[in-house]
Amino acid sequence: MIYGMAEPYQQAMVKLGRRVRLYTPVGLLLPGMAYLVRRLLENTSNESFLRKEYVESQPLARLLAPPVAPVPSATVQPSNSMHGFMNEPHSDFSQETVRHAMQEGIASVRSQLGRQWNADSSLPSLTGPWLTSHNPCRPNQIIASVRGATRSDLDQAIQQAQNQADSWRRRSAEERAAILRQAAADMSRRRFELAAWEVFEVGKPWREADADVAETIDFLRYYGDEICRLSKPARFGNRPGELNHRIYGPRGVTAVIAPWNFPLAIPSGMVAAALATGNPVLFKPSERSSRLGLLLTQMLIAAGVPPGVVSCLPGGPEIGQALVTHPQIVTIAFTGSKTVGLRILTDAAQVHPGQPMVKRVIAEMGGKNAIIVDETADLDEAIAGIITSFTGYAGQKCSACSRAIVHRAVYDQFTARLRQAVLSIEIGDPAEPGTRVGPVIDARAQAAIQQFIAEGRQEGRLLVERSVERSGYFVGPAVFVDVEPHHRLAQEEIFGPVLAVLKAESFADALRMANGTSYALTGGVYSRSPANLVLAREQFDVGNLYLNRPITGALVCRQPFGGHRYSGVGAKTGGEDYLAQFMVARVISENTLRRGFESAE
Ligand code: NAD
Repeated sequence: MIYGMAEPYQQAMVKLGRRVRLYTPVGLLLPGMAYLVRRLLENTSNESFLRKEYVESQPLARLLAPPVAPVPSATVQPSNSMHGFMNEPHSDFSQETVRHAMQEGIASVRSQLGRQWNADSSLPSLTGPWLTSHNPCRPNQIIASVRGATRSDLDQAIQQAQNQADSWRRRSAEERAAILRQAAADMSRRRFELAAWEVFEVGKPWREADADVAETIDFLRYYGDEICRLSKPARFGNRPGELNHRIYGPRGVTAVIAPWNFPLAIPSGMVAAALATGNPVLFKPSERSSRLGLLLTQMLIAAGVPPGVVSCLPGGPEIGQALVTHPQIVTIAFTGSKTVGLRILTDAAQVHPGQPMVKRVIAEMGGKNAIIVDETADLDEAIAGIITSFTGYAGQKCSACSRAIVHRAVYDQFTARLRQAVLSIEIGDPAEPGTRVGPVIDARAQAAIQQFIAEGRQEGRLLVERSVERSGYFVGPAVFVDVEPHHRLAQEEIFGPVLAVLKAESFADALRMANGTSYALTGGVYSRSPANLVLAREQFDVGNLYLNRPITGALVCRQPFGGHRYSGVGAKTGGEDYLAQFMVARVISENTLRRGFESAE
């Protein structure tokens, strides 16, 4: 026990005959003060047992209870799908065995680099050009070549999907869920190899790659659980003599069009949702992550999805567009940029001869996400949270922070500390465990971000920009201060590690700025003012709002994810409303007042 604290307990322990060891920090004054401050923060934290006992006088039974989630209050309902789902844990790379396993994954993938991957015999044979991916960190290194799809391959895949549609829809929800869970188990077993493919093909540092694989596993399991819940007919109303049932069925052949930045998790979410709900799927991975797209498809087929029920069609925008406009595609699940999403919504609105139903588009699009730092914020936490949110995966996340809106009272202090923090980031090869920020995806992305940085100099003041002296598509991180709300830096999605810092006069002013773009995806607030946190809950108009924590890393079933306005149309991924979008609902109302039945014979 620590010297000088809780002395009555120390004496009580001695009286009970227990051995008590007292300890006390010794040494230099400054580190000692840091220690004292940590103690003060810990002991005065809202969750500290000291506070709960001495200030709030909470009963012992409560203080000693296991730390489970709080019982839902009268005003907050638990969601329908809180059925004990557990997320796949992220790997703990502080453990040597785990680091070793990841090194082995990297070595195994390294030995496979440069190969050509053709769709195997269980997939439709493709006849398009080879799509070659390069290591973003070493552009001369070829990662993989994957055979692309042509329009005639697409017709063939659609034919196969239609042939299989009936038998797939007739499988029970439990059977389809079991196949998805099998795929999840296979992925869990191969998680380091899969993460290593992400390191090489899309330049993700270890932890980011590992988190993407974990999320993939979550999506497969969660949508499996969800379809088992939704497949049971739901009864509505309770009037005697009347039975109203809602039943769900699949909509039909579904196209999944995916981005490259979460190359397994995002497509697996969309594909698993379509498959779980009984639809055949034509999946077009991003042309920047074709190898990972093919790998995902192969694993689904190996786990038991019949070939033809899922097909991978590697290719670029032309294959995406051909899918969107094909008369037999009735649902389009898209994740990507606002420009492409809006284009898909327009294209899908055209009705083509032979089209069986109106197409539905589920589109998850971009963001221009802000974190507000008010004058009461804990700057230690705010700076760390903003660094994580704006530089994680080199800013290439739809949820990334690209604006920090800071109250004038702490603005100078904030920017001075942010600058130091940016200077301390480890930038390098994502294959190295210490790397925090790696390259961006390719030369096109690098040039576009550099262009923003060059033009940004006309708008704000460049506070800090890191330069990287090595080949590879590295850029930034860069921070601009004194940016005005109407500047391009504060309005357009850059999709790279570029942060615009804006000065706010008040919290209301900060909220106005935060809401002043066409997007509404993620947002955050660092504040210790309960009143400001309430205001943010009421007025910060984003799909996912994070209070006193980073704004990236939403977890399946815990933080259902997605935006509105120009950030997306559709229900949140990883949430209880998502699967219904892939289905048609039919309601059957029967008069059950007995009039006798005809005999079955
Ligand atoms: P993108 O829009 O360039 O491409 C996405 C996919 O659409 C790719 O597979 C591409 O080949 C395809 N495509 C391109 N043109 C098409 C067309 N005319 N018709 C049909 N398909 C077409 O996006 P990207 O660069 O791959 O990903 C980055 C973008 O994705 C960012 O804007 C990011 O914010 C967004 N994103 C959003 C979310 C979210 O959940 N809201 C998640 C990840 C990424």
